[in-house]
Amino acid sequence: MSNAVTNSMLTELGKRLVGGSLSDEALMRATGDTPDFAILPWANVVKIGGQSIMDRGRAALMPVVDEIVANLPHHKMILGTGAGTRARHIYSLAIDLGLPVGVLTVLGTAVAWQNAQMLQYLLARHGIAFLEPEGFPMLTHYLMERGAVICQGMPPYKLWEQNPDLGRIPPQRTDTGCFLIAEAYGARKMIYVKDEDGLFTADPKKDKNATFIPRISVRELLAMDLNDLVVERAVLEMMTNARQIKEIQFVNGLKPGQLTAALNGEPVGTIIYNDLATPGQKL
Ligand code: ADP
Ligand code: MG
Repeated sequence: MSNAVTNSMLTELGKRLVGGSLSDEALMRATGDTPDFAILPWANVVKIGGQSIMDRGRAALMPVVDEIVANLPHHKMILGTGAGTRARHIYSLAIDLGLPVGVLTVLGTAVAWQNAQMLQYLLARHGIAFLEPEGFPMLTHYLMERGAVICQGMPPYKLWEQNPDLGRIPPQRTDTGCFLIAEAYGARKMIYVKDEDGLFTADPKKDKNATFIPRISVRELLAMDLNDLVVERAVLEMMTNARQIKEIQFVNGLKPGQLTAALNGEPVGTIIYNDLATPGQKL
C-alpha cells in the first residue's frame, strides 16, 4: 500500500499501529480505549466440577443434569467440564516419568474430555452437542437451537502450556479454560458448580473453623493470600485483566436449586467481583 492510500484508509489508531512499536506503552493503552463488543451477552458459562461433581458419579451428577435440563428453555448454557481425580493420577505418573508440563496438560485435557463425553451422552436425548475448539464457529448455532453446548474445560494450550512458578502441575486448568471462554464471548455469567457452598477462609473439608465468604473483590481475595482456594489462582489473576467478565459465582451442585438461582441472577453461593476501574490496573 502506498502511504497516501494507507493514510486515507486507516483510523488514527490504525496509522499508529501500522507504523509504531508494539512495545510503546501509550500506543498499547490506546488499543484498550475502543469499547468492547460482547459476542454472546446472553450466554452463561457453567463449569461442572471434575473432582467435586463428576467424580461423585450418579448421586451428584444426575441432579445437576436434571437442573440443566430444566433450565434449557430459560437460559443458554455453555457447559464446561473439569478433570478431577483421574487427572491427579495421570499427573503423578507423568511426573514420575519426568515428562514436561505441556505433556501433563495434554493428559489432563484428555480427562476433561472424558467427562465432557459422559455429560454429552447423558444430555444427548435433548440434542445437546459436544464441541471441540475447532467447532466453536458453530457454537452459537447449537446454543440458539438447543439451549446448551458442552465443551471440555481445559484451555487448548496442550503442549504449549507454560511452566508454573512452582513445580510441574499445569497452572491453567479447567476453571481457567471456562473463564477464558466466558471472557472471549462476553458472556452474561461465569458460574462454577462445585461441592461446597462457595468460598471459605480455608478448605471447609479440612478446617472446621473455616468461615463462609458470600461476596469479595478479587483485589481483597488476592491480598488475603489464602493457602487454598475454591478456584484456580490463575482465574483470579486473569480477572484483574478481564474486560468483559466482572464477576464469577460459585454454587453448590450438591444442593438442588443453587445453579438455577445463580442462572436467575440471585446472589446464591459466593460472588468474586472485580472492582478495578480499568483492566490491568496494578493491585
Ligand atoms: P473441581 O471439581 O472443579 O476440580 P476442585 O476440587 O479443584 O474443583 O475445587 C473445589 C474444592 O476446593 C472444594 O471441594 C473444596 O474442598 C476445596 N477448597 C479449597 N480451598 C477452599 C476454600 N478456601 N473455600 C472453599 N473451598 C475450598
Ligand atoms: Mg480442580
